Amino acid sequence: MVSENKTDVIVVGAGPAGVSAAVTIARGGKKVILVERGNFAGAKNMYGGVIYEHAVKELFPDFLESAPVERFVTSHSYMLLDDEQSTTITYKNHKEMQNSFVAIRAKWDRWCVEQAVKDGVYFVPDTLVNKLIVEQGKVVGIKTDLEEYFADIVIIADGVNSLLAQQIGLRDEIKPKQTALGVKEVIKLPEEVINQRFGLNSKEGAAYELVGGPLSGMLALGFIYTNKNSVAVGIGACLEDLKVQKIKPYELLAKLKSHPSVAALTEGGELLEYSAHLIPEGGYNAMPKLYTDGAMVVGDAAMLVNNAHFEGTNMAMISGKFAGETALEAFEKNDFSVNMLCLYRKKLENSFILKDLKTYRSVVDILSTRTSSFLGYYPQKVCEFFDIFTTADGIEKRGKFVKFTKDFFRKRSLAELFKDGISAIKLVFGVLK
Ligand SMILES: Cc1cc2nc3c(=O)[nH]c(=O)nc-3n(C[C@H](O)[C@H](O)[C@H](O)COP(=O)(O)OP(=O)(O)OC[C@H]3O[C@@H](n4cnc5c(N)ncnc54)[C@H](O)[C@@H]3O)c2cc1C
Repeated sequence: MVSENKTDVIVVGAGPAGVSAAVTIARGGKKVILVERGNFAGAKNMYGGVIYEHAVKELFPDFLESAPVERFVTSHSYMLLDDEQSTTITYKNHKEMQNSFVAIRAKWDRWCVEQAVKDGVYFVPDTLVNKLIVEQGKVVGIKTDLEEYFADIVIIADGVNSLLAQQIGLRDEIKPKQTALGVKEVIKLPEEVINQRFGLNSKEGAAYELVGGPLSGMLALGFIYTNKNSVAVGIGACLEDLKVQKIKPYELLAKLKSHPSVAALTEGGELLEYSAHLIPEGGYNAMPKLYTDGAMVVGDAAMLVNNAHFEGTNMAMISGKFAGETALEAFEKNDFSVNMLCLYRKKLENSFILKDLKTYRSVVDILSTRTSSFLGYYPQKVCEFFDIFTTADGIEKRGKFVKFTKDFFRKRSLAELFKDGISAIKLVFGVLK
């Protein structure tokens, strides 16, 4: 194909996956256009809040000199809720180097693209790719509202919905059971208030995962992250559960925010922003075909998210890097067919990405059959136990513990407990085998 609208590689989507693919290709000496529908990178993007250093360092080794890091995550808390109480386990890290940091996507994505442009990526914002152009079974370009552009390779990094990968038959429409809806509020608070409430200094940050309480009975987790001058509070809830239980996500978030233990962390703040975004939950079992003649699929578009550990940006970045490296090898061999692009999948298989996704492939399915237990009943019971354990009221303890134990078994039949036990074993052995 010879055309003035022809380049070596087109990358669609300037999220973490797309920018990583594009910068890898530009550094390898090939011409690459990065097309983004937002009027700047990050304009359309939201997430919880944590970026992982191992992935960033592979792409931008000197990022600490200029990247918009809000705070380094030094404290990870797991908060089990019932309606009024909470039990929190906190892991605090005093290492000199942290492994993750909180960043705001509108700033972070923009910074990444600025670095990529310095390395030779041609960035085209404000441009929606409507279609992929396919000729004789091979992807050869893209179609926007105004024009057609052609390339030897197109990298599809258009995120969780990936209409483009659907259009060429690489994946199906997203299924509610395999998708979560994330909703988030960013609440402005003075830096000193955040430091004091979360027990941090100005560089340190906190990450919270919240289970149970208002989220009970559905496959849903809450999260809290500290920015420098604001706190992000959100939930990720399975779309199917929201639909079946007819729950509005913003109402669920409002309930979570009004829980006394959560309200205490955000009290007095000013709402800066409300946003919503889908999260792929299907993992390994729902992964699409990752390549075809002339194209590769990366990041969320390829369902590369490990929900159990809130890891998505690192998988997006490294998958983008692998696709970029594969593209460079394809140019060396002048072969843009599946015979060459299958190398991309091999790279993923040999990395933590497909190894971890394989390890965790049953977690969401198992949890979805036992949500009322693991994400509702047990967190509530832990809170009840600590209520008894910490209460001195002149009543003897033994009677209280006997009542607690009887209640525990009365509200959960032996059959239910047996099923929970089997699921717990499956979870543990699924991960260890
Ligand atoms: C609520 C929530 C919390 C999360 N928390 C975390 C977390 O704490 N840590 C973590 O690592 N991950 C987290 N994730 C997951 C993480 O955000 C994603 O895995 C990651 O952003 C995927 O990157 P990506 O580049 O594949 O896709 P995206 O970041 O979605 O980027 C896709 C880009 O493509 C553009 N685009 C889409 N269609 C087109 C088109 N047709 N034409 C042109 N441009 C297009 C979009 O505008 C966007 O810029 C969270 C996600 C959500 C929703």
